[in-house]
Amino acid sequence: MYLELSKVITGLQSQLDFQLRLSLDDRFLSEVNAVKASEFNIQGTVKKVDKGLTLSFAYDGNMTFACDRCLTEVKLNFNHIAERELADDEAGDDSIPIVDHQVDLMPILEEEILLNKPLQILCSDDCAGLCPKCGKNLNNGICGCEDERIDPRLEALKNLFGH
Ligand SMILES: [Zn+2]
Ligand SMILES: [Zn+2]
Repeated sequence: MYLELSKVITGLQSQLDFQLRLSLDDRFLSEVNAVKASEFNIQGTVKKVDKGLTLSFAYDGNMTFACDRCLTEVKLNFNHIAERELADDEAGDDSIPIVDHQVDLMPILEEEILLNKPLQILCSDDCAGLCPKCGKNLNNGICGCEDERIDPRLEALKNLFGH
């Protein structure tokens, strides 16, 4: 989604206010292992500063991931305020390039999601995960494989009592 900046760049407008909705594409969803995502609401302002433009924006949207341990779907809300410097492509610094008086908001939103996505996604901190043997979700109760799994602590006790 491109934002047209001509009026701010030429000084016709001192700032540009915008509000729009962005849909993340399938390529990005698979890149971050997301199952699905809602549309993201983005609201922001572009203001002219000395050499370039400053983009201030707030975004809000939901993404669904699979729990890293049990694969249950986990819905996360992404809701932040951020700021970026925009500049002509030649600037060569960390600023976001303006091409043909336009800036592409999609890579900016994707970067924000990557920055704010937790390293580990769990349905709950004490998620018991799946049984490695039968694949049952152990959060829903123990499975029949229980006896065959060896808890190292119990093994030590067994040895202690000579069995
Ligand atoms: Zn889980
Ligand atoms: Zn099992």
